[in-house]
Amino acid sequence: MGNLIKPETAVWGKEEWLYIAKSIISGSVNKGNNVELLSKTLAEKYPNSTVFVLNSARAGLIASLLLFKKKQPDKTQVIIPEFICDSVPQAVKKCGLVPVFLPVSDDLNLNISSLYTGCNEKTLAVILPHMYGKSANIGQAEVLLKEKKIYLIDDAAQVAGVNIESKPLGGFGDVGLLSFAQAKTIVTGVRASGGVLFVNNKDLIGALTENLQMLPFTKGRLSTLCHFLMVYKWQRVWKRMDYYIQRLKQRIWDVHPDYYAQVSKISNMEAGIALAQFASLSQRISATKKNIEYYQANQQLLTSFTFPQITQDNIYLTRMILQSKRIAPNILAKLLLQQGVVSNTVYGTGSKIFDGTSLSGLLELPLQGLALVDIDKVVCALKKIEDNSYV
Ligand SMILES: *Cc1c(COP(=O)(O)O)cnc(C)c1O
Repeated sequence: MGNLIKPETAVWGKEEWLYIAKSIISGSVNKGNNVELLSKTLAEKYPNSTVFVLNSARAGLIASLLLFKKKQPDKTQVIIPEFICDSVPQAVKKCGLVPVFLPVSDDLNLNISSLYTGCNEKTLAVILPHMYGKSANIGQAEVLLKEKKIYLIDDAAQVAGVNIESKPLGGFGDVGLLSFAQAKTIVTGVRASGGVLFVNNKDLIGALTENLQMLPFTKGRLSTLCHFLMVYKWQRVWKRMDYYIQRLKQRIWDVHPDYYAQVSKISNMEAGIALAQFASLSQRISATKKNIEYYQANQQLLTSFTFPQITQDNIYLTRMILQSKRIAPNILAKLLLQQGVVSNTVYGTGSKIFDGTSLSGLLELPLQGLALVDIDKVVCALKKIEDNSYV
């Protein structure tokens, strides 16, 4: 069998590698002027926001939640969708607040109408993500929550470069987020490799500036880059090697570092990678859109598989989510692998056996960086599995 078709966690070109080489050669992995350049670039792309470039999205999330809590100490609950990256409810709890989970719609984003009954006098804020880059109905949420005086966090961690009502995602609500971790739209590495806080509500700028302006520089980013390359980019033998390196590190130094504990500025090297990722963004989005359309065109060949996030409007996804209505996702994953297609399970329990709900039977298929012939192979593999399981 030839090469495996696998989900790409970072689509990098020559420029990204050049920034890495330059910062290593000139000894400016941690400190340097890329950070300033990146802040400027972002300020241009998000003209109505005050931009803080940090080492993670959750750092900005926590800073915002703590400020909201201080301003409205009687409110203790934060609404989040039931389908979300684990780090979000963790961050809410870390702030001494209570996450309240509301249902998602078929497109895996928060069902906005659930906010009408889901908010109460204890609701401090709503965190509204755009899962896999597919935009949620944030305009509607913004109007509703403003009326109720509830803070809105536009969690665009997974998506850059998408405008709704001619405003970039991340620019809605009181604050917005962007993450540069693996499998997002802008990828600079893993483990606190970068993130942005957009302050959109002018009343919050002063307090957040005070908290976030004088941050320390990041340290030790070369070793996390190596980890990222081995585990996420190159995989295979490298992945196994990394496993032993990490174990050895723990054995020798007995360290289990929390990479997110230290809130800092993004490193110079990772800011450089982010600049390259922004430069290639529109080109990458159009390439991915072609792939999504191709999956969409082939959907009719399949009878028990659907792509629930694909709709006619605003399609932009970082990963292709498949819903399997007849075959259990874990079995499907094995059958796909036999045909050379690697898939991943989704967040939380979404990859359990299909039970009639939106949040079941899900699997992540390769999407970004694929050639159309590879998509043919993925669809063929699905078709074959479907046909075989009828007998
Ligand atoms: C990844 C992610 C985050 C957290 O980003 P970090 O940079 O890892 O802190 C927050 N929200 C969503 C929706 C995410 O996907």
